[in-house]
Amino acid sequence: MEIKFEQAKTLKEKPDQKKLGFGSYYTDYMFIMDYDKGEGWHDARIVPYQPIVLDPSALVFHYAQECFEGLKAYRCPDGSVQLFRPDKNAERMQSTHKRLCIPEIPVEDFVEAVKALVSVEKDWVPSEPETSLYIRPFTIATEPVLGVKASDKYQFIIICSPSGAYYEEGMNPVKIYVEDEFVRATPGGTGYIKCGGNYAASIIASEKAHTMGYSQVLWLDGVERKYVEEVGSMNIMFKISGEIYTAATVGTVLPGITRMSCIELLKEWGYKVNEGKLAIADVMEAGRNGRLEEVFGTGTAAVISPVGGLMYEGETIEINGFKTGELTQKLYDTLTGIQFGTLPDTMGWTVKVD
Ligand SMILES: *Cc1c(COP(=O)(O)O)cnc(C)c1O
Repeated sequence: MEIKFEQAKTLKEKPDQKKLGFGSYYTDYMFIMDYDKGEGWHDARIVPYQPIVLDPSALVFHYAQECFEGLKAYRCPDGSVQLFRPDKNAERMQSTHKRLCIPEIPVEDFVEAVKALVSVEKDWVPSEPETSLYIRPFTIATEPVLGVKASDKYQFIIICSPSGAYYEEGMNPVKIYVEDEFVRATPGGTGYIKCGGNYAASIIASEKAHTMGYSQVLWLDGVERKYVEEVGSMNIMFKISGEIYTAATVGTVLPGITRMSCIELLKEWGYKVNEGKLAIADVMEAGRNGRLEEVFGTGTAAVISPVGGLMYEGETIEINGFKTGELTQKLYDTLTGIQFGTLPDTMGWTVKVD
């Protein structure tokens, strides 16, 4: 893939690395590639970060033919910059495109585009502990037409945002509300892909949970509202009597790359990992009788997020005395160690950016 480069006239001042937060600053450049029916994906280019101009009738605004990915670039102790399993994001975006009738982007081109942009923006990868450069690839339907159909035109864009340490005050377990009214995904729907529409429909439940004093919702399956699926926009894992349980990624659960990496590490460490249906009733029962040892969410942003309490139908259970569990901490330390290059990458997960 040939990538053209347009030099910016001026460069931005870099923000204070101690006050980055999430999604507040954007780098100097962005990657764009167009799709036109009959022509395919074309005109890959890195241009100064700028607004995108679209016709008000562009399909993305009306029927949400849109999707995204999320990954990070990490600064290693030797100053080099690396990515974590970017090929997995590329593969997942292909499966998302397929579901939304958007023409796929070759895995090599996706990875090349990410590497090319991060290479240009290397100075933006922060070096303070646990900070990183968040990378947001996304695709939008741009054809100006109001009829409901697959667009004949798209733009694939990548933007980057330096982001702060997720756990500025240390890793504190959170209180979760088990949502038994709204659902996130149903069989045959879009639960397994990263499309904006899933988020639009889920905000109401997080608003409700926040109002009630919880930091996130635990989603149950959309048919029986009986089995645990995800927590907020993370996958979720339970350690019960020494074994790990997590929902299988069959249609309604997003196949998280952090989830996949945790499962690979857990198996390497000799844990039995059960991927399948886990009833919320069984989780609550395990909580009551002391067999529920640890609960944690997994996702690129937080990596691992310990859950200290669950509230379901008026009953609250506390997990591990509201403290971060030993295995939860070990997974966090191992994954972040590999990502930031402070531990050897024995799994072959990292990719250097030149
Ligand atoms: C992105 C996402 C995840 C986590 O995926 P990672 O690849 O681990 O970041 C989990 N659930 C939902 C709904 C998501 O959108």
